[in-house]
Amino acid sequence: MSASPFTGRLARVREQMSATGVDVLLLSVGADLPWLCGYEAMPLERLTMLVVPADGDATLVVPKLEAPRVVERDDLFTLRPWGETEHPVDIVAGLVGSAGTVAIGDTTWARFLVELLEARPGVRFVRGVEVTGDLRARKDPHEIGALERAGAAVDRIAVELQRGDIALVGRTEAEVSAELGRRILAEGHQRVNFAIVAAGPDAASPHHEPGERVIGEGEVVLCDFGGTMHDEFGVGYCSDITRCVWTGEIPAEAAEIYGLLAGAHGAAFDAATLGVACEAVDAAARAHIVDGGYGEWFVHRTGHGIGVEAHEDPYIVEGNTEPLAAGHAFSIEPGIYLPDRFGFRLEDCLAVTEEGVRPFTRCDHRLVPVDA
Ligand code: ZN
Ligand code: ZN
Ligand code: ZN
Repeated sequence: MSASPFTGRLARVREQMSATGVDVLLLSVGADLPWLCGYEAMPLERLTMLVVPADGDATLVVPKLEAPRVVERDDLFTLRPWGETEHPVDIVAGLVGSAGTVAIGDTTWARFLVELLEARPGVRFVRGVEVTGDLRARKDPHEIGALERAGAAVDRIAVELQRGDIALVGRTEAEVSAELGRRILAEGHQRVNFAIVAAGPDAASPHHEPGERVIGEGEVVLCDFGGTMHDEFGVGYCSDITRCVWTGEIPAEAAEIYGLLAGAHGAAFDAATLGVACEAVDAAARAHIVDGGYGEWFVHRTGHGIGVEAHEDPYIVEGNTEPLAAGHAFSIEPGIYLPDRFGFRLEDCLAVTEEGVRPFTRCDHRLVPVDA
C-alpha cells in the first residue's frame, strides 16, 4: 500500500482555506468527505461532520453507532462520537467557536445548516466547493490511476457488447440494463451508478429510463453505463462510457449521421489540450455537428467532470471559460437525437496531463453491427 493521499489533501485544503479567508470547513454527506479523509458519511438523519479549523486539529463528529466503521487516522482527525441523547449540532457549534467565515459542504442536509445558522448567528457561511472544488477537479496521479482502472473495467464490458456477447434482440431494455449492472460489479466496481439502455426511438431521449420495450432487429441500442470503484484507501472513483451498437445491417442514413457524431467526438478530443477553455472543447464538437446540419439535435453540453462523483467540475459547456489544467478529468460525449426515430451518443472520459491526453476508455468508436 502506498502512502495515504489524505495528509497531502488536508494540507492543500488548509492552504486553500487561508487563501479564501475560510476559518473552518465543515463536511458531511457527499463526496468531499471521503475524498479528504476516506470516510463516507451515511446519508441518514444522524449528523456526521468533519470540522476542519484553518489552524488546529480536525475533529470527526460521528454517531456513536457508526464510529466502528471509521478508519481512525490520527494524523488527520480526532474522533468525537456522539450518543443518542446528545445534540450533535451543539458539538459542531462548539468546535466552530468564534469563527467568522465557515465553508460548509454543498451536499450537507439543509436542516443542519439551518440549525447551525441559529446556533451561530454571527457566522458567515460560504459553499464548501470554494475550498474543495479546484482541488478535487485537478486529479493527482493516484486519482488518475484510479479513474483509469474504473474506466478499463467498463471498457471491457463495452468490448463484450460490441462483440455480441451480450444478448439484445428479444430482451427488454430493463433486462439488458440489469445485465450491464451485474457486469459492472463483476468487473470490480462496488456500486452501479447507472446503466442506460435505450433501443430504437427510445435512444432519442438522452437520459432514457430503460423499460419494458423489447429490443428488435435492425435498430440502435444505446448503452451508457458506469459505476464507482474503490481505490486502495476506500475512496470511490467513477467510470462512465457510452457505446451504440446496431442489431443487424446499418442503414446508410444512420451510418452517415453516426459518422458525423464520431467526427465531433474526435474534434473535441483534438481540442482538449492544456490551457484551452472548457467551452472551446464543447464548441469543437458542436461546430462539427452544426456544419453537418444536425446542430439542432445536439441538445446537451459536451461533457462533465468525473472523479469521486459521476458528474462534477469542470463542465464542458458554453460559458465555462476555465482553462483546462493538468489533472482535469472529464467526459466527451456529443450526441445526436432524432425524436421518434433514433439517437446516438459516443462517450469516453479522459484526463489532460502535462504529457498529453489520457483516455480512460478506448474501445471501438464506430457504430458496430451486432448479431446478438
Ligand atoms: Zn448523461
Ligand atoms: Zn455516460
Ligand atoms: Zn457522462
